[in-house]
Amino acid sequence: MTIFEKSVEGRTACPLSHCDVKEYKISSSFLRENAPKLPQVDELTAIRHYTELSKKAFGVDDGFYPLGSCTMKYNPKLNEKVAQLEGFMNIHPLQDEVQGAMKLMNILEKRLCAITGMDAFTLQPAAGAHGEFTAMLMIRAYHTSRNDLQRDKVIVPDSAHGTNPASANMAGFEIVNIPSTPDGCVDMEKLKEAVGEDTAALMLTNPNTLGIFDKNIAEIADIVHQAGGLLYYDGANLNPIMGIIRPGDTGFDLVHLNLHKTFSTPHGGGGPGSGPVGCKKFLEDFLPAPRIRETEDGFEFFKSENSIGRMMTFYGNFAVLIKALCYIETLGREGLRKSAKISVLNANYLRKKIEFLPSYTKGLCMHEFVVSLEELKDKTGVAAMDFAKGMIDYGMHPPTMYFPLIVKEALMFEPTETESKETLDRAAWAIKELYELALRSPEDFHNMPLSTPITRPDEVKAARTPELIAEE
Ligand SMILES: *Cc1c(COP(=O)(O)O)cnc(C)c1O
Repeated sequence: MTIFEKSVEGRTACPLSHCDVKEYKISSSFLRENAPKLPQVDELTAIRHYTELSKKAFGVDDGFYPLGSCTMKYNPKLNEKVAQLEGFMNIHPLQDEVQGAMKLMNILEKRLCAITGMDAFTLQPAAGAHGEFTAMLMIRAYHTSRNDLQRDKVIVPDSAHGTNPASANMAGFEIVNIPSTPDGCVDMEKLKEAVGEDTAALMLTNPNTLGIFDKNIAEIADIVHQAGGLLYYDGANLNPIMGIIRPGDTGFDLVHLNLHKTFSTPHGGGGPGSGPVGCKKFLEDFLPAPRIRETEDGFEFFKSENSIGRMMTFYGNFAVLIKALCYIETLGREGLRKSAKISVLNANYLRKKIEFLPSYTKGLCMHEFVVSLEELKDKTGVAAMDFAKGMIDYGMHPPTMYFPLIVKEALMFEPTETESKETLDRAAWAIKELYELALRSPEDFHNMPLSTPITRPDEVKAARTPELIAEE
């Protein structure tokens, strides 16, 4: 029963006291015609509603969550505690005195510069995709400022996340797709053919979505720069290299980071994201406004001359910024390096333990790897989707499915550094059980998962036509 069906006319959880503010007449053009259809319930019914919903969700606090590319690492509870300190919780962006908050953002910007090898950062974008879009607008503003107006194409490898072409397209660019080599890296010949006087930028994820570090990065940077284009770093996969290699040192001009991935702030249903964008000095002037700078009297906001303007209300998702900075300070330089290394170790360990599923990623992988179930499907009819659903019955979140698009029947595993050896061993055991079941009794997969409140929803329909309010 939904909370709408439990609604009883006139029932309330919280009687409001008489309002002593004078009534103000708002023009009817701003008012809705009908009252919103909110459920009317008592406090206990509301509590039960949310408790029930929380039990239906699965988060990293519930179990193993190897969702590739999403870096579902543990979110330390200390970060939550710090973000809930009185001075942070009750702050308002419009109050006169926000020096402490400005200092925090200034320190975070400096830390992110140090980690990525960039010279300046904006903390405004609310997600990775939003950061990509911000950076694409900056790239356009840069070329326009040089009167280099014919640069209307952005090159994107076929292993890229779907947000890359979408963001570039939204910023008015045409997309040039280039294929990857069989080992998943940028095809250098194809790249050379693709660049030219119309190249605005190349968007690259390194390590890429196959979990491979593209060793040609220096040459790639040369090719793009010589053609007059800029090199953009999709930082969603920074986790295995943080503190070890800096994108800025390998030729990238702009980056976005996903604080909700690499820097351990909750994500998905767990909370809002944050996708800061960093750039080299020569692009700093184009960053969104307002920015923060330190003066003799403290911190102040300013707008640079060629700023692309505001990308978000106020200054970004401030609570997320607190948590990310807390994470960085807790780990410190050595901690970040160690965490990156363990993420790589964990991925290679799990890959080795489940090598009966053929890996698309040859040799050592970075923090994630992709297996193809094409052979298993041909032999048994059990597809990547069926296999992933089966994993749910073992108390695990499925890996990323059917991504990157260049691998057939792909499952992408990213165990992250926060999982113990025992957890990885148990996951490998469960995956082996499922594999053997697929060979022995493939029809068992048709109804999996059996242990969840909802089994096999129509995912497209659920996303496109969600039924959020009960029909009358
Ligand atoms: C997650 C991800 C993105 C998009 O980031 P969001 O924060 O989800 O908008 C972009 N690229 C890659 C490789 C990703 O994994």
